[in-house]
Amino acid sequence: MLAIYFSPMLLGLMLLLAIAVAATALWYVSRPYAGPAFWMASGWTLILGVMLFIGFMVTGSPVLNVLGNAGQLAGEALFLLGIFRFLGRPLPLWIVPASVGLMMAFNIRYWVVDGNSDFLLGVYSTIAGLLPLQAIWLLLHSRADRATRPAQLLVGVSLLLYSGVTLLRGYHGYHDWLLDRPYIPPHQSFSYLLPYNFALPALVMGFVGVTLMTMQRILASSREHEERAQRLATRDELTNLLNRRAFNAIAERDLPRALRQQQPLCLAFIDLDHFKRLNDHHGHNFGDQVLRMFADSWQGQLRASDVLARYGGEEFVLLLPDTDPGEARTLLDRARASVAAADIRDGDVPVPLTFSAGLAQALAGDDIDSLLGRADQALYRAKTSGRDQIVVWEPDSV
Ligand code: GH3
Ligand code: MG
Ligand code: MG
Repeated sequence: MLAIYFSPMLLGLMLLLAIAVAATALWYVSRPYAGPAFWMASGWTLILGVMLFIGFMVTGSPVLNVLGNAGQLAGEALFLLGIFRFLGRPLPLWIVPASVGLMMAFNIRYWVVDGNSDFLLGVYSTIAGLLPLQAIWLLLHSRADRATRPAQLLVGVSLLLYSGVTLLRGYHGYHDWLLDRPYIPPHQSFSYLLPYNFALPALVMGFVGVTLMTMQRILASSREHEERAQRLATRDELTNLLNRRAFNAIAERDLPRALRQQQPLCLAFIDLDHFKRLNDHHGHNFGDQVLRMFADSWQGQLRASDVLARYGGEEFVLLLPDTDPGEARTLLDRARASVAAADIRDGDVPVPLTFSAGLAQALAGDDIDSLLGRADQALYRAKTSGRDQIVVWEPDSV
């Protein structure tokens, strides 16, 4: 009873069981994210390996010894494969048969040709200690995935610790073998103190790290989806300008504020001239391209408080807080000149583009519909007076 009570091996087995159960839960909750399936397989394979090894300790069966060591190395290799999978790297699947095969070869030789147990321990620890190096290098160097970088560092450092401790253990094995030290029972041996007291905790830390890595990835991608969904709700997909709904929401906020504070505010209704003709002559795709160019051409011309939106089709609205009609007109004339001067071409054919705009200033008692209505009236006037011009709404102008 006392032996079980003070058994680091039992504690180790229970820790591995905790890892395996938690890894299974991680796999279950994070599907279909890549990586956790390998860590789950790793946890259970490690347990199988340790159980087989315990079986060997109880029975002395060489077969259980070989399978136990091979199982533990396979478990470790699977853990590392999970990291490659998570990082989207090609899987070095060969590390499983290579490490397991090498260990089995030395282990069988040990039993058949009367080997030395210190030497065998050295071989096991060398394989186990060198296996993680490639993954450690990746984890500490890859900067591609910023969201998961902190947890990647944690996993990298954990594996580095694991690797260092395990190689130190290997060094001890070779050292004792070369000096032909007499056999020491495991519980008195430094070589057995290392895995249970240091390597296994490092592995637990590494497992916590891969869990955090997975969670950070899930969080980052859900944030990305959320941003995309909002963007879709407020932005026009073709031009990436605000859409009509978003524009109305902003105008409904800015208009009453301007009226309350008696600040000037202007609104322009902008409509591309003869756009149907442009589509007919050059195709709808070209028309789309022109709409995009037109939207982009406003970049750098507006202040942060100005709001340009695609109201529909080839119609745009521009809200200009803190702007009187004179300033608004200057801005629109400048935009008109720059659109007219733009060198738009369909292949070699130059494509002239102009727009008309109706401009209205906010008046006491206005709501967004009445203001838009006056800007629309002014736009109508611009269209009927020959297009390619800006008309400011005046009571007698319509
Ligand atoms: P006007 O000078 O009187 O405004 O003439 P117009 O041809 O521009 O006016 P109208 O409103 O009759 O036609 C607008 C055209 O804009 C019709 C439609 O095919 C085109 N249009 C609307 N939305 C899009 C779009 O998303 N892409 C493209 N390529 N064309 C569009
Ligand atoms: Mg139109
Ligand atoms: Mg038009």
